[in-house]
Amino acid sequence: MHENLNKAMVTNRTFTMLKPDSVEKGNIGAILEKITASGFRIVALKLTQMTTADAQAFYEVHSERPFYGELVEYMTRGPIVSAILEKDNAVEDFRTLIGATNPAEAAEGTIRKLYAASIGENAVHGSDSDENAAIESAFHFSGREQF
Ligand code: UDP
Ligand code: MG
Repeated sequence: MHENLNKAMVTNRTFTMLKPDSVEKGNIGAILEKITASGFRIVALKLTQMTTADAQAFYEVHSERPFYGELVEYMTRGPIVSAILEKDNAVEDFRTLIGATNPAEAAEGTIRKLYAASIGENAVHGSDSDENAAIESAFHFSGREQF
């Protein structure tokens, strides 16, 4: 029974960051409004600035990609809003809400279509699996910061 409860919690949650460009442009309120209006409950939320070591670790999976250096520069240049979101089917539904990595390919009405400038500066992060949602949430939030 406890295992089922834990599993249900994990699979109903995802992790997001409003990236530095979203904070710089004053889009925090608009993006959070769109997220909550789309049925996600905010269960953790804060404004922080990642160090170079933080960003390198968070994006370790991309360390061999040509854009890794620029990505780390971008993600550390100013504060981000990090959040944990809860909804049925959270990971998949949030990826649908944010749209394609490249805003030029993102569907109408998606957060990246509305607020992202380019494939590099694309406004928001969304976890790509339940496993990564849990890892990324634990990277940014202590247990006392999750509700
Ligand atoms: N990125 C980039 N150039 C690319 C692909 C990705 O600068 O060609 C950046 C972009 O900020 C993206 C992040 O690296 O959000 C992580 O890439 P991923 O493929 O995981 O895209 P996402 O899951 O964010 O859609
Ligand atoms: Mg990704």
